[in-house]
Amino acid sequence: MTTYSRNYPKIVRHTLLVVLVAAAALASCAPTVETEAADPMRITVLYTNDEHGWIAADDRRGGAAGMLARWRENEGYVEDGPFLVLSGGDLWTGPALSTWFEGEPTVDVMNEMGYHAAVLGNHEFDFGRDGLRTRADQAEFAFLGANILDSASGAPIDEVLPYVIEDIGVVRVGIIGLASMRTPRTTMPTHVAGIEFADYAATLERVVPEVKSEGADVIIAVTHLCEEEMRPLVGTATELGIAMIGGGHCNERIAEVAQGVALVEAGWQFAAYGRVDLTIDPGSGKVLDVAVALKDNPPGTPDLDAEAIVARWQAELDDELQVTIGYTEDGIKRNSAAMANMLMDAWLAAYPADVAMSNPGGIRQDINPGEITLADIVGVLPFDNTIVDVALTGKQVLASYVHGSRRPAIAGLGQSGAKYTIGDMPLDPDAIYHVLINDFMYAGGDGYLFAEYDPAGYMTGIDWRQPVIDWITSLRTTPNDPLENYLDTEPR
Ligand SMILES: [Zn+2]
Repeated sequence: MTTYSRNYPKIVRHTLLVVLVAAAALASCAPTVETEAADPMRITVLYTNDEHGWIAADDRRGGAAGMLARWRENEGYVEDGPFLVLSGGDLWTGPALSTWFEGEPTVDVMNEMGYHAAVLGNHEFDFGRDGLRTRADQAEFAFLGANILDSASGAPIDEVLPYVIEDIGVVRVGIIGLASMRTPRTTMPTHVAGIEFADYAATLERVVPEVKSEGADVIIAVTHLCEEEMRPLVGTATELGIAMIGGGHCNERIAEVAQGVALVEAGWQFAAYGRVDLTIDPGSGKVLDVAVALKDNPPGTPDLDAEAIVARWQAELDDELQVTIGYTEDGIKRNSAAMANMLMDAWLAAYPADVAMSNPGGIRQDINPGEITLADIVGVLPFDNTIVDVALTGKQVLASYVHGSRRPAIAGLGQSGAKYTIGDMPLDPDAIYHVLINDFMYAGGDGYLFAEYDPAGYMTGIDWRQPVIDWITSLRTTPNDPLENYLDTEPR
């Protein structure tokens, strides 16, 4: 039988340290048996999810270095103590500090923080399989995904392990990863071609016995699942003896015990973390009690080593990206009409087409007041997408525009009374129009149907940020003539 723990370097981390936490307060929970019964021991899980590359502190969050300091001071965290540090995925796609380097800074600092394992989020595929492989090689923690299967072989893809087993004192903890079955619709679909994301409960039913046969006493599931998908797994978890389910993806805040199973999801962006305490009878390995809490990570005193890593990457980024391209007096909000209009107008200005549209989920960050740099634009559009030119009928343009619960950022398509217009003309449902979209949408991301409408869409190869950078640069804006003078702030 395959074992996924024996050759794993982290497995020895705890073996020399039998840390028994004498918990007097837990005496009432202890088995009322003979006096030689060992005191219960406690294993503490520190849990984050959807870190999204927010390793630097700002005025709202303490960042990775702040969180590590908080763990040490408030939770008594030591790397070789009875702790497990786990992540629910979506580690690195976010601000330029992480995205520009394809996530390397985030994995660097997570190594320093002592993570043991992270399940793959959908965004772990944003830089393709090669990008994922590079990060997996760099990480000193395991990338997990028991249900991420190679379609051809049916085995987990090379970049992940289905589970790891960590020895903490005399207790063996099996940590199983579950990725979201929706991953092909929430990352570039071409990046997950040939991969199947298998059913959650069926995967647990298959893998838990294997983990137990490897000697695991305690089982934890680390998942990239939102609450609506985590909660239905509680019954399965209870049956299989899973003590905790960690979630991710929806950036929710969950800390509760349901039918004896700890459920935890800790917001996102290193703004909070979960603490789960498992009280265990070291003799039988039985979990006697679970407790869960959510804690915030506001700005605070950072851990110096982690801060040095962040600072080193920030210096590298500064060198590359602190080129000023313009000036905004008030800044531009991520979800504003001004932002959506600017991005799409810039696309249409750069490339001959009738309409530009881009999914709102791809616009990720505000532009702050003051000088605008390349880094700001990378932060607004962190994903490495390119522009695709598709030919659509007027009817298909409209169907795409109203598809989904949020309207895409749009340019070229207007409304005059109850009628839609393209350019200055009424939209003709049967006419053919050229529409600029991004390659995420073209590949079927967010459920768009562009490839069905136009299987011969033209991949322009243009980085979707480049027209925006070019447009802002061309205006030569200054404090006396800020970008505000050129923005269309009217919702479309
Ligand atoms: Zn996600």
